[in-house]
Amino acid sequence: MSLRDLTAAEQVAALAAGKVTSLELVDAHLAAVASDEVGAFLAVDPDRARARAREIDALPERPPLGGVPIGIKDALSTRDLVTTAGSRMLEGFRPVYTATCVQRLEDAGAIVVGKTNMDEFAMGSSTENSAYHPTRNPWDHTRVPGGSSGGSAAAVAQRQVPWSLGSDTGGSIRQPAALCGIVGMKPTYGAISRYGLIAFASSLDQVGPFARTVRDAALLLRHMVGRDPMDSTSLDMPEAIALPVASDLRGLRVGVVDELMGEGVEPGVRDAVGYALRMVEALGGTVVPVSLPTTPLGLATYYVLAPAECSSNLARFDGVRYGPVVDDDTLLDQYERTRGELFGPEVRRRIMLGTFALASGYYDQYYGRAQRVRTLIVREFSAAFDQVDLLASPTSPTVAFPLGARTADPYSMYLADVCTIPVSLAGLPAISIPCGLSGGLPVGLQLAGPAFSENRLLGAAHALEQALAFDTLPPGLVT
Ligand code: GLN
Repeated sequence: MSLRDLTAAEQVAALAAGKVTSLELVDAHLAAVASDEVGAFLAVDPDRARARAREIDALPERPPLGGVPIGIKDALSTRDLVTTAGSRMLEGFRPVYTATCVQRLEDAGAIVVGKTNMDEFAMGSSTENSAYHPTRNPWDHTRVPGGSSGGSAAAVAQRQVPWSLGSDTGGSIRQPAALCGIVGMKPTYGAISRYGLIAFASSLDQVGPFARTVRDAALLLRHMVGRDPMDSTSLDMPEAIALPVASDLRGLRVGVVDELMGEGVEPGVRDAVGYALRMVEALGGTVVPVSLPTTPLGLATYYVLAPAECSSNLARFDGVRYGPVVDDDTLLDQYERTRGELFGPEVRRRIMLGTFALASGYYDQYYGRAQRVRTLIVREFSAAFDQVDLLASPTSPTVAFPLGARTADPYSMYLADVCTIPVSLAGLPAISIPCGLSGGLPVGLQLAGPAFSENRLLGAAHALEQALAFDTLPPGLVT
């Protein structure tokens, strides 16, 4: 067994017991990062990681996360470590500060080994919109890892790091976790500071963990949550994140969302999710059908609101305030060339969509109406949680699709998030856990709960994970 087969919690325990040093752990993982067969990383800083490991090994007492390596999505700013958000627009950009969530993890003893690949500015579902290179799915190198946090998901599935951070606006943690056979969680909106997260759609963006076990996800989350004076939308959790221990689901009522189990969901995905739901009952929970009639409008609502917010957030990338500049005769020509040449096609499409939706004369017809539908979706979720404790659905309607299969058709790419987007619009916490295979590829189960029900979600996901006993080792991976 290699050090890379240890879960993060096991690595923390091995460090505490003096069985291994942080430098040994960092070196074992850096070697796997160096031979990056799946293209999970954009930037790696071995010297910085080793120096930090030596420092932690020399401390009289180990910090809570012991000196365990981590990968960070390139949307999160890291001081002096190149941060590009997967875009040419930020090529070579070295932030002057570190995102609060990353800083909190570093303070707790996590060691950043590198920055992971992503769809440009987190727009996409396959990581193929990265301006640098695509990332491959560790289960099948001809397929996508999902996105936009595909690098972070692939790095964990490939055991290059035991855990990583992603960001989720409409599904970018949960969907790649599902496609790569690992755990991914999007906490309640506001639970984790967004300070230092390069903004896509601010009313939706949330940072969250990827890991191979629910317990590891909880451990990481525990050290990131809580109010940050630098992000006025961040909040304190009503209770600390607990490490899950539940082994049954007695008394838990799980609602299965009718609208997310029907058309468009692959039979193999439906079967694996059905198996997990029978397991919920075997563990003492009850499963009831629930209808959320407005959720089918979620995708359309999101594709008005998210582009609208992005068109505003990305205005700052003009070659003057940020990014390289493409010179031209007049200032206007310079702006146009910089933004036209350094943003990729999907980002330009979103900016144009969003600008259109916000134009006076259309504002009420698109943006105003989408906001009203969002409110309906929020109310439907809240009514559902009067009847059930958690809601279940597939995370993604399909397993990982082949590289290139959807790049020519943006709408088919957007459909990858049909199950995750409604939860994002409602700002609720949700977790994806692997629940089986379809055609040899992982299937994810999404569990969503009311705001701040992280402990309930993690507990249920942990109990189910034990019962499902999914093997997260991709075929052919030799650690
Ligand atoms: N795939 C969705 C999009 O392209 C969601 C992305 C995300 O959550 N960042 O917008």
